[in-house]
Amino acid sequence: MNDCLFCKIIAGEIPSSKVYEDDKVFAFRDINPQAPVHVLVVPKEHIASANELNDANAGAVSACFTAIPKIAEAEGLKDGYRVINNCGAAAGQTVMHIHFHLIGGRELGEHIV
Ligand code: AMP
Ligand code: ZN
Repeated sequence: MNDCLFCKIIAGEIPSSKVYEDDKVFAFRDINPQAPVHVLVVPKEHIASANELNDANAGAVSACFTAIPKIAEAEGLKDGYRVINNCGAAAGQTVMHIHFHLIGGRELGEHIV
């Protein structure tokens, strides 16, 4: 039994505002956006966090980062954007299915990292 929220969104069992999909990646708008564009880029393979990555599953991450420029262009982020991964509870990860926040559409500043 898979109780993962993002697996259910990928499967279409929970509705989302999809912006991109290919055979390995699903991307949809964050329900609580922090900027005019805030998309969650998620591999279809269930990997709990960046801390679970290894040689066997890291292709899921490259698939996400190959999708990101396509999504950014479609969202009009020609001046730049930020990609964020929260890994683990202490970093604020609330959904334990690895995902990348693609954020843009406003001046983001230099001070998150
Ligand atoms: P994180 O805190 O890095 O784990 O990010 C999880 C993100 O998922 C948060 O930014 C939430 O706003 C977002 N989120 C939670 N539930 C949903 C949902 N049903 N649809 C879209 N985004 C969601
Ligand atoms: Zn999952």
